[in-house]
Amino acid sequence: MPSDKKKQSAPKGHQARITDTILRDSHQSLLATRMRTEDMLPAAKMLDKVGYWSLEVWGGATFDACLRFLKEDPWERLKKLRKAIPNTRLQMLLRGQNLVGYKHYSDDVVKKFVERAAKNGIDVFRIFDALNDLRNLEVAIRAAKETKAIVEATICYTTSPVHTHEGFVEKAKKLVNMGADTICVKDMAGLLTPWAAYDLVGKLKANIDVPIHIHSHGTSGLASMSYMKAIEAGASIIDTAISSLAAGTSQPPTESMVAALRDTPYDTGLDLSLLDEIADHFREVRKKYKQFESEHTAINTKILVSQIPGGMISNLANQLKEQNALDKMGDVLEEIPRVRKEMGYPPLVTPSSQVVGTQATLNVLMGERYKVITSETRSYFKNMYGSPPGEIDEKIRKLAIGDEKPITCRPADLLEPELDKLTRELSSKTKSVEDILTYALFPVVALEFFEQREAGTLEPEPLELPEEAGGEPHGGVMHLAPSEFNITVHGESHNIKVAGAGHKVEGKRPFFIMVDNCLEEVVVESLTEVLPTTAGEIERASIAESSRPKARKEGDVTTPMPGKVMSIKVTEGQNVSDGDVVLTVEAMKMENEVHTPISGVVKKILVKIGDTVNPDETLIEVEPV
Ligand code: MN
Repeated sequence: MPSDKKKQSAPKGHQARITDTILRDSHQSLLATRMRTEDMLPAAKMLDKVGYWSLEVWGGATFDACLRFLKEDPWERLKKLRKAIPNTRLQMLLRGQNLVGYKHYSDDVVKKFVERAAKNGIDVFRIFDALNDLRNLEVAIRAAKETKAIVEATICYTTSPVHTHEGFVEKAKKLVNMGADTICVKDMAGLLTPWAAYDLVGKLKANIDVPIHIHSHGTSGLASMSYMKAIEAGASIIDTAISSLAAGTSQPPTESMVAALRDTPYDTGLDLSLLDEIADHFREVRKKYKQFESEHTAINTKILVSQIPGGMISNLANQLKEQNALDKMGDVLEEIPRVRKEMGYPPLVTPSSQVVGTQATLNVLMGERYKVITSETRSYFKNMYGSPPGEIDEKIRKLAIGDEKPITCRPADLLEPELDKLTRELSSKTKSVEDILTYALFPVVALEFFEQREAGTLEPEPLELPEEAGGEPHGGVMHLAPSEFNITVHGESHNIKVAGAGHKVEGKRPFFIMVDNCLEEVVVESLTEVLPTTAGEIERASIAESSRPKARKEGDVTTPMPGKVMSIKVTEGQNVSDGDVVLTVEAMKMENEVHTPISGVVKKILVKIGDTVNPDETLIEVEPV
C-alpha cells in the first residue's frame, strides 16, 4: 500500500476516480455473492495495474457467503487478495455496529473486528447504518480511525416523506465532525435520479470539505446518468464494475464511464485496453456461476414505483418459493410500503430490508397482519436497531411489544463485552483472533466450518458442471455427501439435499428436500418413489437423524417451518406461561421465535443449538401444572 495513501485520498482537480466493485458488490448483486477466491486471484495483477481509487473486495454479504456456501475462510481471502494486490487500496463495506452480520455486536467485538480487518489488508472502511442513526457508527469510525485507514462515512440514500437533501447534509456534517475522510452517498436501490444527484452533491459540496463518493446500482437504469450529474456537481469518486459483471442490479460498467469522461476535465486516465482484458477474464468467470443468476438481476424500472430494491425482490422471491407461495409476490410488494410506513420509513438496506421484507411476507402468508411477529420486528419497535427516521405507528408498536418502553440509548450500550467469553467458549477449537471474530458473528455456521476444517471435509456447494467437463449423462446421479447429491435431468443439473424427514401418517412420510437450495416438501411412502436408486440409503439416514418424537400432546412445542435451532431460551424444570418464547429457529434467513402453546413446566428439551428441525417434531415438552 502506498505510504502516502491519506494524501492521495483527495483527488486532484476535477479528475474523477473509480472504485471497482468487481470483487464484492458486483457479484453480490448478480451472482448471489458466490464468486470464489480462485476466480479473483488470476485477475489480481491486472486489477492492481489499473490505477483505481480503490477496489471493493470485502464485507457486505461476502463474509457470510464465504463461510456458508463457499466453505472459504473470509479472512484467508482477504490475506490472499492483499498479497496479490499490493498497490491498490482495498476497501470493505461495514454495516456499522452490525459489522458484516445482521445484528448489533458489542463494542469490544466491533473494535477488534475493525482492527483485524485493517491488519489483514483493508485500507478504506465504508461504514453505514441502515437507519442512518449516527450513534451506530461511532465505535466503528473511532476504531477505523485508530488503524489509520481511510474512513468513508456513509449516508444511506432513500426517498420518503421524512427524508430531505437538507437532512442528509446535516448528517454528513456530523459525520465529518466524527472524523470522516470521505462521505459516501449509498444509493443501494438505484433510486437516485440525475437531478437529485446534482442537487444533493451540490448541497454537500457547499457544506463539507471532504471528497464525495457515489455508490449506486443500475437497477432502474439511471445510475450512469446520475453519476455524470454527481460528477458535474463535484463528486470525486464513483463506484463501477468491470463491464462483464456490470449493469442491471450491479454497478454501471467501468469502461463506459471511463469512455464517457475521457477528454473532459473529469478524465479518469484509466486504460481501456487493460480494462478490456480484465473484462474478458470475468466474462468467463460469470459462466461458471450461471446457476446463481436470477431473473431479477436485469434492469427493472418497477423500483421507481415500488421503491423496493432489486436485491430485496430476489430475496423475497426465494423466501416465497421456499414457502411455496410465489403467487403471493404481488401482495407482498403492496404490503412492504405499509410496513415501512408503520416502521417510520427505514431505508431498505440490510438489515432493515430483511426486517420489513420478512414481516410483510408473514403479514400476507398468515392472512392477518402482524398475527405472527418476528423477533426482529419486535426488536425494531423496541428501537434495538436504533431510532427510526420517522414516526412509528404506535398501534403496531403496541401489538409488537405491548406496554414495554422502547429504549432511548445507543442500542450497543446495552451489550456486555463478549470477546473474553467467546474466547473461552472457543478455547479448545482455536487460538486465532480471526476465528473468534467469525464465531462472534455467525456462531452456528462458524462451528460447523471449524469442525469441517479440522476434519478436512470443507466442500463448497456444488456448481453445475457443463456436460463435456465431466457432468453426468441424462438421469445420472453424482454423490456429494450421504444426504446430498447432484442429479442431471434432460441435461440440466440440480443439487438435491434431503433436509429432514417427518413422521409417518397412514403409511406416508413427509420428506423435506432442498432442490437447488429451495425447500420442497414431498409426502411419499418411500423416497425411492421420487428419487433414483440411492434414495434408500439417504432415506434411512434422514429418518435416523430425525429421532425426535412426533408432536401429539397440547404442550409439545413444534416449529412452524423447517430450520435450524438458533437459541434455547428455557431450561428443564422452568415455569413458562402460554406464549412465552422457548426457542428460536432460523428459517427464511431470519430468526423466528417459537412459543409455548400452554402454561406449565418445561419437562424435557429435545433439541440443541444447531439442530435441524422439522414441523411435526416435538422440540420441547411442556407439562401443564
Ligand atoms: Mn450496493
